[in-house]
Amino acid sequence: GSAPTQYGRVMLKISGEALMGDQGYGLHPPTVARIANEVESVAQMGVEVCMVIGGGNIFRGLQGSAQGMERTTADYMGMLATVMNALAMQSALEDKGLHCRVISAIRMDEVCEPYIRRRAIRHLEKKRIVIFAAGTGNPYFTTDTAATLRANEMNCEAIFKGTKVDGVYDKDPVKHKDATRYQDVSYDEVLQKHLGVMDASAIALARDNRLPIIVFSLDEPGGFRTILEGDGTYTRVHN
Ligand code: UDP
Repeated sequence: GSAPTQYGRVMLKISGEALMGDQGYGLHPPTVARIANEVESVAQMGVEVCMVIGGGNIFRGLQGSAQGMERTTADYMGMLATVMNALAMQSALEDKGLHCRVISAIRMDEVCEPYIRRRAIRHLEKKRIVIFAAGTGNPYFTTDTAATLRANEMNCEAIFKGTKVDGVYDKDPVKHKDATRYQDVSYDEVLQKHLGVMDASAIALARDNRLPIIVFSLDEPGGFRTILEGDGTYTRVHN
């Protein structure tokens, strides 16, 4: 049967911090399980789901280098952190009986699969959830850039950026009561006004490939599915 959605294949990008719950650090299994529920309800629609998970709940390269560590070494530690998060999410998805593969940009064959584009596409065609780990495999990049890169490579129709707020605002909605949410905003406006959707290289990469970015709240139960069905609150970044 046909899914009640215009989307066939999507990328879900979440930060590492989305997995730590109310703790200040690391992984909070009930929170990981809750996000797995959100992914499950979308996978059940027949939508092919790619995921990129950050590593900031465990390690950030910039923080490491601020403490005197060599930047590239610190960035590799950050990339390794994303692999741990990916494995935690895979485990939570498999607990629900979903099929999932973790694919790493840095080879670690005993732990997960290496990135081979055609193989990743094949997993998606077989309705396996694919989690892309270790970012782009390169220092000086972020997992936002990795999500945009893989979304382009996998021919995703959009990137869904799950955050704590239900879209992009003209100012911080936590600090300012009169902040207003954009329904639609262009890539260039996001860049010019530093709207903090994703880092600038990720925005530029999405713009150059006309890949829409949909910013939505992950805290809303069922929110991811609702947006794929065409409802809910979100901001759409496009041309
Ligand atoms: N990282 C990197 N190259 C990449 C992706 C990530 O070097 O392609 C490193 C970088 O040090 C970053 C860390 O991994 O700080 C964690 O990723 P990110 O900060 O994007 O995680 P998030 O903020 O989304 O949790």
